[in-house]
Amino acid sequence: MKTIDLHVHTTASDGTMTPSEVVSYARELGLQAIAVTDHDTAAGLAEAMEAGARCGLEVIPGMELSVDYQGHGIHVLGYFLDPASPALLQLLDWVVAERQARNQKMAEAMRADGIPMDLARLEAAHPHAVIGRPHFAQALADLGLAADVADAFRRYLNKDGPYYRRRHYIPMDLAFQTIRAAGGKAVMAHPLQYGYDEAGLLALVQCLTQAGIRGMECRYTGYDAAQVADLERLAARFDLCVTGGSDFHGARKPNRLGQPLVPYRCLEELKAK
Ligand code: AMP
Ligand code: ZN
Ligand code: FE
Ligand code: FE
Repeated sequence: MKTIDLHVHTTASDGTMTPSEVVSYARELGLQAIAVTDHDTAAGLAEAMEAGARCGLEVIPGMELSVDYQGHGIHVLGYFLDPASPALLQLLDWVVAERQARNQKMAEAMRADGIPMDLARLEAAHPHAVIGRPHFAQALADLGLAADVADAFRRYLNKDGPYYRRRHYIPMDLAFQTIRAAGGKAVMAHPLQYGYDEAGLLALVQCLTQAGIRGMECRYTGYDAAQVADLERLAARFDLCVTGGSDFHGARKPNRLGQPLVPYRCLEELKAK
């Protein structure tokens, strides 16, 4: 079976492999296509697409955006976006400024507790990357304050952790207007990661469908067969394409590139939607 992975991060956001490295790794694993979906940036797309063209791997340009839903950040994957779209660039400027303000607050809170966290140094260590909590987590682990990234999240950076600070997510209407303006197709990412019960999830999917998603990421790292079947039923009910991906982040998360298996047919259906 030809398989694909439609959810992959690189060093342009919080992955640990460069776009070229991810592409050659995907090629090695025998994947047919991947989508590069960094958080809030198109910075990795050109390199990934060039690397894909060189080695014969289909690379779909994508992005993962955090959209506001009742104050929660819901992740929406935009595929086939034009990275030069003025509307998109303007939106990303806003998101990056919002992140910058929040990163300052988190670094200050750490320094107030005597942790030598310097944002300029963090940025220098990850040039051209959209800096977020995963980079702070890595730095805390490097300082010996946590065993690893997951432990740093658990101790310091989860929503109820001492250094977590809120940021504003993209207003729903603006997010979808922008994805449309950039020629993209929106897909709901990892539906079971938000902590909703059945009714809550139904309401969320209804709202996102109205806003304009074309598909749902029914296959995702850690979802078992019963969960996938439930999500596929939900997708069918709202006439959404079924998609899937690993959310590969290199060494920063255990997620494995190309797992779970997602058939190439899902990409064809998304293209046709
Ligand atoms: P941010 O966008 O800066 O709030 O960071 C959120 C990102 O951190 C998510 O998209 C994940 O990639 C990552 N993340 C969240 N929780 C964890 C965790 N427990 N372990 C590793 N990475 C995490
Ligand atoms: Zn991430
Ligand atoms: Fe996500
Ligand atoms: Fe992701």
